[in-house]
Amino acid sequence: MIPASTFKGKTVALFGLGGSGLATAMALQAGGATVIAWDDNPGSVDNAAKAGIGTGDLRAADWGGVAALVLSPGVPLTHPKPHWTVDLARAAGAEIIGDVEIFVRERRAHAPDCPFIAITGTNGKSTTTALIAHILKTSGRDTQLGGNIGTAVLTLDPPKAGRFYVVECSSYQIDLAPTIDPSAGILLNLTPDHLDRHGTMQHYADVKERLVAGSRAAIVGVDDTYCTLIADRIERAGTRVERISRRNPLADGIYADGTRLMIARGGTARAVADLSAIQTLRGSHNAQNAAAAIAACLAVGLAEDEIRAGLASFPGLQHRMQPVGRRGGVLFVNDSKATNADAAAPALSSFERIHWIAGGLPKEGGITTLSGFFPRIARAYLIGEAAPAFAATLGEAVPYEISGTLDRAVRHAAAEAEKEGSGSVVLLSPACASFDQYKNFEVRGEAFVAHVAELPGMTMLVDRKG
Ligand code: ADP
Repeated sequence: MIPASTFKGKTVALFGLGGSGLATAMALQAGGATVIAWDDNPGSVDNAAKAGIGTGDLRAADWGGVAALVLSPGVPLTHPKPHWTVDLARAAGAEIIGDVEIFVRERRAHAPDCPFIAITGTNGKSTTTALIAHILKTSGRDTQLGGNIGTAVLTLDPPKAGRFYVVECSSYQIDLAPTIDPSAGILLNLTPDHLDRHGTMQHYADVKERLVAGSRAAIVGVDDTYCTLIADRIERAGTRVERISRRNPLADGIYADGTRLMIARGGTARAVADLSAIQTLRGSHNAQNAAAAIAACLAVGLAEDEIRAGLASFPGLQHRMQPVGRRGGVLFVNDSKATNADAAAPALSSFERIHWIAGGLPKEGGITTLSGFFPRIARAYLIGEAAPAFAATLGEAVPYEISGTLDRAVRHAAAEAEKEGSGSVVLLSPACASFDQYKNFEVRGEAFVAHVAELPGMTMLVDRKG
């Protein structure tokens, strides 16, 4: 845990007692703050009280003595409208922050030179974060991995010289981290998302810009207009910018040329890595993630050999285009995280002969946007509530069956793929939420892995949990 010493002797209001809220409350108390924690859910308040956290109804609190309001990232700061605690804090003149802000203050106070890499963007955050942490760990660096990826940042080990932090930041977390100052900050890409929480695309982009604007070295993907403008603007303001591109050559920066990643300086380029043999980094979206990881690792002082070694051994993230088994020439891939059509597109674009398992709880728009990939689909195996609608979209274009359940889909797809011999893929990339049949996409992915493991003669590439 990182005790929040920068609030020692102060009173801090905290709203939102989920996992990260609880961890933040403990870190504040361990650092010597008085905490008044609250949540709309009485069970969460009880739990916190049992864990020794100071609790109290913030509607009735004396806000005059409150130095800061700490919000969980799920609680609205601005849109659709500010949470009631935000109104109370503003009226009292208390600052409003989140756990990432507390972390950056601790780092500045105790180990300002310890490398801190922060990652944001609309897509690819978790992959890039995990990849960077893997490269650092493989090179023998003392590495802490946390933030939006799942481990609350204040549960990590405290900052000290020589310790590396790799922190995934959602836009909500950046919104609550006014002084975020990474050694290397990454903005991968920006497409419309979470506009319910940010109002407009411009506000969403402005929030994301803050992460790179505050970085010692900013790494920005320049394949969309918002990010390109951001890169230019922060560079003009004096920030050192490394541009990355998955699509276009750059005179200065790191870009993908097919599966090769090129580093260019003053118009001269050379290859820095080749992803062609790395199963876990297939697809041009992963070239963007890898380019960002290379740029960040170079910025914090790694050698190119160390970076190449880490890239080559990246195990991939669970449920995201994850190779899980092989039988004969057929590869089995778990992409359960693809809960809508856009998220399924990268996997469908990364393989040629696809036995596609899709369906679940349908999202608006279905799979019509994926029609460009239909020629790659040898056969589709449809499951869950979306099956009839997906069947209607596939129509005459793609042979399909309505398998109904995942276990049938896996068995049938495996048998059909085997007939084709080498080079085909059984891919779970559902383009749907999982809630009609599973608790969440993780449980769906684990079920897929278990069904694959049951097939005779299978060589598993992961353990049964995935
Ligand atoms: P995030 O953490 O931002 O949600 P993930 O790394 O978990 O992103 O990847 C989620 C899905 O988004 C992947 O399965 C893939 O389909 C897609 N994806 C990953 N990286 C990128 C990228 N750089 N650009 C576009 N889509 C991507």
